[in-house]
Amino acid sequence: MHRQSLVDYGKPLEATEAPTPSPKGSEVLLKVTHCGVCHSDIHLQDGYFDLGGGNKLDVRGNRPMPFTLGHEIAGTVEAAGPEAQGVPKGKFYAAYPWIGCGKCALCARGDEHLCNAPRALGITVDGGYATHVLVPHPRYLMDVDGIPPAIAGALMCSGLTGYGAIKKALPHLHAGPLLIVGLGGVGMMGLQFARALTDKPILVADIDKAKRDAALGLGAAEAFDPADGGARKAIQKASGGGVGAAVDFVGSDKSLAFAHAPVAKGGAAIVVGLFGGGFALPVPMFPLRALTIMGSYVGSLAEAREMLALVKAGKVAPIPVETRPLARTSASLDDLRAGRIVGRVVITP
Ligand SMILES: [Zn+2]
Ligand SMILES: [Zn+2]
Repeated sequence: MHRQSLVDYGKPLEATEAPTPSPKGSEVLLKVTHCGVCHSDIHLQDGYFDLGGGNKLDVRGNRPMPFTLGHEIAGTVEAAGPEAQGVPKGKFYAAYPWIGCGKCALCARGDEHLCNAPRALGITVDGGYATHVLVPHPRYLMDVDGIPPAIAGALMCSGLTGYGAIKKALPHLHAGPLLIVGLGGVGMMGLQFARALTDKPILVADIDKAKRDAALGLGAAEAFDPADGGARKAIQKASGGGVGAAVDFVGSDKSLAFAHAPVAKGGAAIVVGLFGGGFALPVPMFPLRALTIMGSYVGSLAEAREMLALVKAGKVAPIPVETRPLARTSASLDDLRAGRIVGRVVITP
């Protein structure tokens, strides 16, 4: 099999060859047809996340090199182990990549995506920037019939992340409307899932006017520019005294400072983005505001199925996609890092 692999942190990906694996037990071998290029691949390539104040979160872990990134995977079944039932050869699936150890309490309760010994495809085990990928069990193969093949894999990352965050926001909307901060790919997904799941008004904020306009076109009630000094007051007014939940799809010190400020008493700020930075709030403000601040990381296998049902029901607008060959994977990561990518790039090995 051909791969584009990480050979060292901070270095470009390189073409590598490996024997195509034969699936054993419950394993399924997918022939990768599409693998989305994701911003988190850049952090994994760098080997760290920025924690603000010059601090870095080391994410190098124990990956054996060469290591193949790529977690937004879709492809067709090429072979299946003797215990892998119900996966016809040639059928197209998206792979749920956030796979856990299958043995711990988190995995037992269905939160494999939070497992501390993950086997996440393209994160901790070899992923989809390759002609083939091994999936440990058919339960991680998602039926994506009716969904455009080029976005099926990306839905397992940006779609699931948006859905998982909005689902956490819903119980707090008794306290006021929803505020979405950051209208990149994940934020736009979140907006659309929110539209499908609540009748409450949805306020949005982004520094980019084109993104604000796009969000209004997708049903946002009002849009605000965080760079505008009057935005906080305007959100207070538009929300009738505060929002029930603010979802921060940027995840920076600035964005969280902006997002949590208009949260009404009893409401929540939900951090999704991984941009980086630090956050401080006087401790008494938590009880005085009955404030919840929580994080949301991708989503569970069950949430992936719920999310796909919404997509199949036509609740998500088509996403423009540019496809590129496997050999351009490393260049695509460079383009993403440099902000040269508008929309989504999907590798077609
Ligand atoms: Zn991703
Ligand atoms: Zn586990």
